[in-house]
Amino acid sequence: MKTDVLVIGSGIAGLSFAIKMAEARPEISLTVLTKLDSNISNTAQAQGGIAVVLDKVLDSFEQHVADTMKAGKFLNDKKVVEMVISQAPERLLELIDWGTSFDANEKGDFELGLEGGHSQRRIVHHRDLTGLEMQRKLLKKAESYSNIRFFDHFFVTDLLLKKEGEKKICVGVQALDRSQTQQINISSKVTFLASGGSGMVFQNTTNPSVATGDGVAMACRAGAKIKDMQFIQFHPTALYEEEKHPLFLISEAVRGFGAYVVNHNGNRFLFKSDLRGELATRDIVSEAIVKELKASGEKSAFLDCRHLNFEDFQNEFPTIVAYCYSIGIDLKTDLIPIVPAAHYQCGGIEVDEHAKTSVGNLYASGECAFTGLHGANRLASNSLLEALVYSHQAVVAVLKELDVIQEPTGLQQKEPLQTDQETDADIITSLRLRLNEIMTYDLIHASGKREKKEALEHLAELKELLDHLPPSTTDTIGFFELRNMVQIAVLVLEQAINYYSLKKGFSEGIF
Ligand SMILES: Cc1cc2nc3c(=O)[nH]c(=O)nc-3n(C[C@H](O)[C@H](O)[C@H](O)COP(=O)(O)OP(=O)(O)OC[C@H]3O[C@@H](n4cnc5c(N)ncnc54)[C@H](O)[C@@H]3O)c2cc1C
Repeated sequence: MKTDVLVIGSGIAGLSFAIKMAEARPEISLTVLTKLDSNISNTAQAQGGIAVVLDKVLDSFEQHVADTMKAGKFLNDKKVVEMVISQAPERLLELIDWGTSFDANEKGDFELGLEGGHSQRRIVHHRDLTGLEMQRKLLKKAESYSNIRFFDHFFVTDLLLKKEGEKKICVGVQALDRSQTQQINISSKVTFLASGGSGMVFQNTTNPSVATGDGVAMACRAGAKIKDMQFIQFHPTALYEEEKHPLFLISEAVRGFGAYVVNHNGNRFLFKSDLRGELATRDIVSEAIVKELKASGEKSAFLDCRHLNFEDFQNEFPTIVAYCYSIGIDLKTDLIPIVPAAHYQCGGIEVDEHAKTSVGNLYASGECAFTGLHGANRLASNSLLEALVYSHQAVVAVLKELDVIQEPTGLQQKEPLQTDQETDADIITSLRLRLNEIMTYDLIHASGKREKKEALEHLAELKELLDHLPPSTTDTIGFFELRNMVQIAVLVLEQAINYYSLKKGFSEGIF
């Protein structure tokens, strides 16, 4: 199979790129691959919204830049922050043009939400279903182009490379087709990785099942530069349900709406850590909750919404109210149990301002990419924006370069696999559980070099087990995902050790 431009992923990064490319070049062929149904993605789960400065009286680009830098502990690349934030209004208009609707009052002014770390109301949203609204409308728009082909249930296993001198060039991908018994090569002039995050690696997560870090892992195997994987953001308010993986997210906007975070005695405790209390950034709130839980021995903290106007709350957060109700939590009388959960991968495949990776003809955007926007901790609602901006930047570059790229030739077709997807699924499940047990909040954010090195040894044992699984198991999607997740876990810990070793106070024990 061959295509001019190959897109891996049908979330906001992949679809916005595909739409713009298809519009600009109706004569080229585009192929979008996605590993489950096209509408299953982190994008579809987004609740809060997109941060965009629209009110130029109270708010300004400068304030959004300052909030982003502060949340990121000033490890962000300021030029990137300025570029992304200043493009936001234009990218928002495109989304609206493509059919996405956002909440507005009778006069047509957007209703702007407030989230942790933002000094102003600037979150444009569609109730608490912003991501689903975008996912649906972008898919509909993309499907209207005759030069985009969609292949869902196609699982990309690796990038195909050739060498030009010292430089590696991406010439397509290897993928398991729908029947999952055949690996095929798909050649492309340009490959665009928009494969999302890696929350599934961790014990608690808000990410859906597709988030197994495949794109970062395969880019790493291809020799691309991977940066800042140590900065895994934990969201403080995932709804705690024992043995559930992933956990349902209670949006940051709920705290922006006025909900309190309380302990098992009903007392608010966040002000001990930060004067902003509930409106402090995610890293601060998560750390405060974990400390409180360690001190009390309780399993969860709580969100208290009982003092809020229930009608207004339900109008703003219908999905959250309905989900809570479905598991027996009535927000008028009950508290919502919450724990921090892995939510966002701030690092990823290093890209320049046009989303180019260090491998030729390979671009990356969205959660799989490291752009420099987020620093050590992403500001709420900046990631959908980042994906839109970097996919746009990539289009600008690809349009300039596509015509001079030679069509790859000579790719060998792969042999059909001798595999049974059901075989030994239990082994993969138990190894996945073991990985999740290792990759906890404490390991990532509250342990020192010694603990991280010990965890790396456990991961090496896991890898050893994976390397010796029977062949019927090793050509399955479950195996490929687990191999990628173990690779992500190793990257996170190795990059953490390297990063924190340079910092004072990173001891052999807990720092
Ligand atoms: C619960 C939740 C709430 C969030 N709320 C917000 C919010 O309010 N505001 C905000 O800015 N951000 C939010 N985020 C973060 C944001 O949603 C994501 O960072 C963003 O949607 C990532 O988009 P993406 O296009 O990079 O990846 P995704 O939307 O995750 O799409 C990844 C795509 O890649 C495909 N894929 C992956 N691996 C393979 C493979 N091996 N082969 C083929 N296809 C593959 C998947 O099938 C999928 O189509 C939230 C995230 C979660 C989980």
